[in-house]
Amino acid sequence: MSARILVVDDVPANVKLLEARLSAEYFDVMTASNGTEALAICRRAECDIILLDVMMPDMDGFEVCRRLKTDPATHHIPVVMVTALDSPADRNRGLEAGADDFLTKPVSDVVLIARVRSLTRLKMMTDELRMRAITSLEIGMQAPERSAVADTGKGGRILLVDDRQSSYERLATTLAAEHTIDVEPNPTEALFHAAEGNYDLLIVSLDLNNFDGLRLCSQARSLERTRHVPILAIADPENSTRLLRGLEIGVNDYLLRPIDKTELLARARTQIRRRRYTDHLRDNVQNSIEMAITDALTGLHNRRYMESHLATLAEQASMRGKPLALMILDIDYFKSINDNYGHDAGDDVLREFAVRVRKSIRGIDLACRYGGEEFVIVMPETDLHVAGMVAERLRRSIAGEPFAVHKGTKRIEVTISIGLTTLEQKGEAVADVLKRADTALYRAKHDGRNRVVSQAA
Ligand code: GH3
Ligand code: MG
Ligand code: MG
Repeated sequence: MSARILVVDDVPANVKLLEARLSAEYFDVMTASNGTEALAICRRAECDIILLDVMMPDMDGFEVCRRLKTDPATHHIPVVMVTALDSPADRNRGLEAGADDFLTKPVSDVVLIARVRSLTRLKMMTDELRMRAITSLEIGMQAPERSAVADTGKGGRILLVDDRQSSYERLATTLAAEHTIDVEPNPTEALFHAAEGNYDLLIVSLDLNNFDGLRLCSQARSLERTRHVPILAIADPENSTRLLRGLEIGVNDYLLRPIDKTELLARARTQIRRRRYTDHLRDNVQNSIEMAITDALTGLHNRRYMESHLATLAEQASMRGKPLALMILDIDYFKSINDNYGHDAGDDVLREFAVRVRKSIRGIDLACRYGGEEFVIVMPETDLHVAGMVAERLRRSIAGEPFAVHKGTKRIEVTISIGLTTLEQKGEAVADVLKRADTALYRAKHDGRNRVVSQAA
């Protein structure tokens, strides 16, 4: 996993030092000696992570960070401020500017590499999601970047796992100013609690009595329901080596006691914003996958999906020696519905038709819109006789009840013709099965419509 790290510092010796350490760990290193140069590199999407010096002439690190984080094109790039200033006030200025983390000069090797590795993993995941979400952006869904840049990070749901009352009371009071917060003082209950609560952030104390907080973090990482929830660890300074271990197993950020209230709030906001952004990306990916396989008008599967899935179903049926039934359904005289009542009424009929189809078939049956007013239903483990009964029931469910159109002001009689066949011969090409069903459909039309014609293999 080789990431491209941009090191920005106005002092050449500092740049050289970080460059040498990162190169030794096989990271690709790029360098810039001022903010303007750094911004240009980021806008060209040439780096994965930025290590950013705070004190620079012209534009300081805070300003560079603020600009990166308010630009939709660069806001997802993790920024680590590298600073000689280490007062809570300085850290908070950086966090307010949107920094993801801090390293204090002189930079410790172990901490540097641990932080860069953990941010690299995060960046790779975000990149992957961004790439997959691009399709949905192209077809006009809302850009996650825009809402992410506007998100304050407030109003999150947080679960705090801490068994020391004086500690959790103080933390909870601070956090309650901006978020909804639940406290779980019993670490053995924490994982269940976290999985059930739909949280935006877990805050875990690593100084629990007789319980390894890191184990809880690693369990939260492997559990499906909590896998994507960010974790902020809190530890006493003498426990700080365990924090590095924590970063390796997926803890996103940490704070050392005594906790500075402003810094706690700022770090919680950063994690929650990131969580919402990746959730949004993930939703977009999910939506675009659904759009790619779904027919927008009827919500049934589309032809492309049916064709690829039918091949799999046919293979399974052959392998297991089970029958597979397939029918093509075509609405009778559909063109005249459009001609007499308008295209919108035609669309209403198609939608209602899909609703009735869904009611008549089982969950494992595959229904899809094959073209205009033509549909295909594939029924695994169903022989010609049973499929014939299903088809007949479907035909009746269409012909038996007029279709409401124009918002229920008109009702029209609709009928369908169905051609039905099965795959029985091992390894038969699905195209041949479709062709046979189509021939049966043609006969149903020819024989007068509103009927089912079966064609044995
Ligand atoms: P037959 O009984 O022989 O099937 O006659 P038909 O009129 O149903 O068949 P034909 O294939 O001649 O006409 C199908 C019509 O379906 C033509 C097309 O304009 C219409 N159509 C296709 N897709 C849509 C759609 O999404 N919405 C609407 N409203 N009409 C559609
Ligand atoms: Mg038709
Ligand atoms: Mg047709």
